[in-house]
Amino acid sequence: MKRLLFTIATVTCATSPALAADLTRISPDAVATAQKLRDQALDDHAAYDFVAGLTTEIGPRLAGSANDQRARDWVTARFKAMGFDKVWSEPATFPKWVRHSEHAAIVSPYPQNLVVLALGNSPKGNVTGDVVAFKDFNELKSADAAKVKGKIVYIGYRMHQQRDGHDYGMGSNGRTNGPEQAAKLGAKGFIFRSAGSDSDRLPHTGVTHFDDKSPQVPAAAMSNPDADLLERMLAGGKAVTINLNLDCGFEGTYTGANVIAEVTGSAKPDEAVVIGGHLDSWDPGTGAIDDGAGVAIAAGAAHLIEALPKHPKRSIRVVAFANEEAGMFGGHAFGAAHKADVAKFTIGAESDFGSGKVWMLNSQVKPEALGAIDQMMQVLSPLGVERGTNGHAHGGDFGAMGDAGMAVLDLTQDGTRYFDWHHTANDTLDKIDPKDLAQNVAVYAAFAYMAANADGDFGSAPGAFAAKP
Ligand code: ZN
Ligand code: ZN
Repeated sequence: MKRLLFTIATVTCATSPALAADLTRISPDAVATAQKLRDQALDDHAAYDFVAGLTTEIGPRLAGSANDQRARDWVTARFKAMGFDKVWSEPATFPKWVRHSEHAAIVSPYPQNLVVLALGNSPKGNVTGDVVAFKDFNELKSADAAKVKGKIVYIGYRMHQQRDGHDYGMGSNGRTNGPEQAAKLGAKGFIFRSAGSDSDRLPHTGVTHFDDKSPQVPAAAMSNPDADLLERMLAGGKAVTINLNLDCGFEGTYTGANVIAEVTGSAKPDEAVVIGGHLDSWDPGTGAIDDGAGVAIAAGAAHLIEALPKHPKRSIRVVAFANEEAGMFGGHAFGAAHKADVAKFTIGAESDFGSGKVWMLNSQVKPEALGAIDQMMQVLSPLGVERGTNGHAHGGDFGAMGDAGMAVLDLTQDGTRYFDWHHTANDTLDKIDPKDLAQNVAVYAAFAYMAANADGDFGSAPGAFAAKP
């Protein structure tokens, strides 16, 4: 509803007369170069080589783990080897959470082990109790404390495959907010059907959240087949007792960093188009689709532009963000460091939805720049990209900058398979189709080049794009 209202407000602004001189345009030469970059990207291997190298030579990159530093060293060296003009890091500090072990089992009526993963931010705990089941987070939210007290809460919300992955809204809501709500109602533990659309016996981890004043309970995700097993026992009508034994928790704070590479602009080097992904990943897989692919797409696109005989007017910066998974700490650090200069950030786009093809472009730009977006669409539509809406764009790790007034593109990927593998041991390189990845690189290279060469801006300014009441 908020998006609808904002879209209407934007249209109202667009009706005020804009002088032709105020309209943002992209020169025919820049459009022609973008078309060449697009076609070249479809045969370029730099992005695939990047994510293959990262997942092979580093693998899982849990924020704050030994691999956090190793991954930053790897990406710094790789960015330098790719020939970017500048490479640097900017610090991001966050609480360090560690996973040691997890074990869960049905104790009665029919003893069996359950395949689980502790949720990020879960405390340590070893609890045994009867299960009380809810179909989704909303049902838990309106539950009576008397029904929950002393029990282990189970949420059974089931996700399905979708191109836009919209079931993840409710699936991740149960994971993020379910444990805290269960604890507030007096539960002793929390377990749920993974936020995933597969039927593999692999749980999907992910972050949960407890506010400072809330009691905390051990919280874990179980695989979909394990959730089916538990539900069959519950349907039998006997009390089902489970044991949940998690060894995990916080160990102080850690300072990681966003790693940044720059293609320096030829005329306005202080202004920059920013693209990127997050470098950290959950620990069961190797962080291929989430989000090695995103960093690789941005790096591959910028690498093609770096190699041009003449750089675009503005700089292009690739940001490999720190610790997105536990709460966008890298994105918040980037926003805190740069929001005062938001007008110098021409436009931003993060890739963080796997490696499926880009199929829609949503924008958060000023009305006078919509013609330039139409010009981009002419270059991108042969790749299968459709025009979405102009209004509030999500921004991901660039969301803090977007909220501060940076223009944003949301290049929506096909996520049909994404939640089969997301946050599981199955997040591995074989899930990336090199042709799909190359289509993403083509989109990012063409858009970033055109934005960096645009005559006029996209509306980045302090306080721009604030949601209208
Ligand atoms: Zn991600
Ligand atoms: Zn993730």
